Amino acid sequence: MREELQALKEQALAELGAVTTPDELKDLRIKYLGKKGPMTEILRGMGALPAEERPKIGQIVNEVKSALETAINAKTEVLEAESLKARLANEKVDITLPGRTQNCGHLHPVTLTLREIKKIFMRMGFDVMEGPEIESDYYNFEALNLPQDHPARDMQDTFYITEKFLLRTQTSPVQARTMQACEPDTPIRMIAPGTVYRNDYDATHSPMFHQVEGLVLGENISLADLKGTLETFCKEMFGGSVEIRLRPSYFPFTEPSAEVDISCVICGGKGCRVCKNSGWLEILGSGMVHPNVLRMSGYDPDKINGYAFGMGVERIAMLKYGIDDLRLFFENDLRFIRQFK
Ligand SMILES: [Zn+2]
Repeated sequence: MREELQALKEQALAELGAVTTPDELKDLRIKYLGKKGPMTEILRGMGALPAEERPKIGQIVNEVKSALETAINAKTEVLEAESLKARLANEKVDITLPGRTQNCGHLHPVTLTLREIKKIFMRMGFDVMEGPEIESDYYNFEALNLPQDHPARDMQDTFYITEKFLLRTQTSPVQARTMQACEPDTPIRMIAPGTVYRNDYDATHSPMFHQVEGLVLGENISLADLKGTLETFCKEMFGGSVEIRLRPSYFPFTEPSAEVDISCVICGGKGCRVCKNSGWLEILGSGMVHPNVLRMSGYDPDKINGYAFGMGVERIAMLKYGIDDLRLFFENDLRFIRQFK
């Protein structure tokens, strides 16, 4: 029994010397010291020994066991130290590499412009209202004085979902919705910013673009109020030296109607390529709300009147930042987008 144990110890130590990985070491520990290993077997077989032999053999078994454990633990430390050394050698930090920068996003120029427009009107006491982008034919056209066969509908060709539903061509439907949602003849001062759609695509038109429409209703509101408000807006947006002019125009939902021009922000009114030598730039449409529009939404045109206006956000951004092609806004070319950081 003694010789057997001695041989076992020597064999285990010899195998331990050949171990090079933590996995092999684990296997070795199980092989010799595990529950199914030779040590356990010997201890189990002790019952067959003479009583006076048992303590002596038991002592030897324990000695061999603890010698093996000590050797295995020492080997574990050696292997761990080796693996740490290897990792330190491999995972060297190259302090000459350039640092990793955090990529921080920023707002799109259309969003920046939209936010600025909203801010200016909110300072003047306007509410900001929103409505659905999939709109009914009724709200998009009819409630705005554009019946089924009206020729002005052709200027706003859009994408139809069904016969009765379409992608809105303007944010004006929000005005009719707001008027119908409040008590008849309630004064209103609101803007409706949002995405709109038309069947157009070239350097100055996109099938999807953004608009801000405004509506002011109350008693005794005049064209002077409209001009004063829009002049304030243009000066805030483009600078105090900007002048505006109103040109007679036609819109089905306003009467009288006017296009609003600002003095050219590039040449200051002297005439240049951008303003086609006129000194003026067209920036929005406006007018006094047509009595039919008021009537259709339950307002009494004899008591309440007001004005409405609408502008393209991309158009404002193009003039503000000197951008000559509207498609740039939607191509997601980072060389363009990053200029607005
Ligand atoms: Zn000009």
